[in-house]
Amino acid sequence: MVGLRFFGGVNEIGGNKILLEDDKTRILFDFGQSFTFGADYFTDWLSPRPINGLKDQFEFGLLPKIRGLYAKEQLAFTNFPYEEPEIDAIFLSHAHFDHVTHICFVDPQIPVYLGVGTKLFLESMEETSGFCDYRKHEYRTFRTGKKIKIDDVVVEPVHVDHSIPAAYGFLIHTSQGTVVYTGDLRMHGPRKDLSEEFVERAKDCEPDALICEGTRMALKEKRKNYSESHVERLSNTIVSSTDKIVFITHYSRDMDRLRSFYNVAVKNGRNIVISPKTAYLLGKLIQDEHLDLPDPLKDEHVLVYYKRKKSGTYDDSDYFLWERQFINKMVTCEYVQNNQGKLIMDLDFYQFAELIDIQPRRGSHFIHSMSEPFSEEDIQDTVLHNWLGHFGMQFHQLHASGHLNREQIGSLVAEINAKKVFPVHTENQHLFKHITRNAQMIKPENEYGI
Ligand SMILES: [Zn+2]
Repeated sequence: MVGLRFFGGVNEIGGNKILLEDDKTRILFDFGQSFTFGADYFTDWLSPRPINGLKDQFEFGLLPKIRGLYAKEQLAFTNFPYEEPEIDAIFLSHAHFDHVTHICFVDPQIPVYLGVGTKLFLESMEETSGFCDYRKHEYRTFRTGKKIKIDDVVVEPVHVDHSIPAAYGFLIHTSQGTVVYTGDLRMHGPRKDLSEEFVERAKDCEPDALICEGTRMALKEKRKNYSESHVERLSNTIVSSTDKIVFITHYSRDMDRLRSFYNVAVKNGRNIVISPKTAYLLGKLIQDEHLDLPDPLKDEHVLVYYKRKKSGTYDDSDYFLWERQFINKMVTCEYVQNNQGKLIMDLDFYQFAELIDIQPRRGSHFIHSMSEPFSEEDIQDTVLHNWLGHFGMQFHQLHASGHLNREQIGSLVAEINAKKVFPVHTENQHLFKHITRNAQMIKPENEYGI
């Protein structure tokens, strides 16, 4: 019998951990961290101690006790016994935190399958962040359409459009029939053709089960339903009607958004200023010719912002080795201050102190190109607006989601027409009952046949 168990992503957005068992074969799809991970017990600097392996997580039941999954050293201080791997493979749908983070605890003997581009994202994060370490794994990369055989189960990754490149859904051919897993996807991005192809391929399999994401499954959506091209067009309106600097902030791995702002910059005869971290990521991703991104070293419209560090004199040795490769593209706060009308600058909230050195002219613009805050008492949002007020900057909210809206979920489910539908990555799984009679409500860790 083929069984599915959901260890994360149930009644929550993100943290997907889906176990498929077909006789003796056991495969995990995604092993991400919940957005609310440990929030009841840990806050700010109070966090699980890495030295303790999984002991701190197990204390509060924050990670599932799955036999033959975790690395020996991670279990050393726990009372959960180490066993040789009983999981045959892990497949990652894309490189977002809520789908990959917890692979750091996994036994390095278990192969991790992931898209070529996803691997580049993970490498870039490890190489440029002081605290990101997925640990050693036997990585095996795939591209769309490849058929990967794990015992008698065949897994076919098929590309989808999401707010990060190299995102995939999976067609999983088991001994009892096909299971389709959407990963995260959207139909309103620049590559909606990829998601359409996925739906087409999924439908052709006449699947027995569909594991479907439902991030935006809500009775009513308050946020604007923008597409990526809306964001580009509206940003262009802002940039083309000002001679002042325009700052933007967006999710660091959303390359479609970066490309939208890059296009707007070029169209308006401006240059785009990015951080060394973003430049490094771009430098990695251009290795994948399918992604069509500007080369930070060669593209004349891309400049790289260097903060004053250590010596305060922008000396090479002030910067990490990975940062130094863009030093020919360096611009400083003085340059930005003197060329405000010629620039669009990517500025993350945590880098706002740079504004003190840049001194933007009053009436400059700030485009917040991320989700709106979830609560009205969001402290970060208040602080952000205080800064904008202080410098007399104009605020704009412009964002397109990485996920299907409710109607699109309905059409996808109808189109694929699976015999059972398992809603994951959603706070409202019951609403799937309104769109299909085949919705199967799920409880964490329970086993469901297909
Ligand atoms: Zn997700």
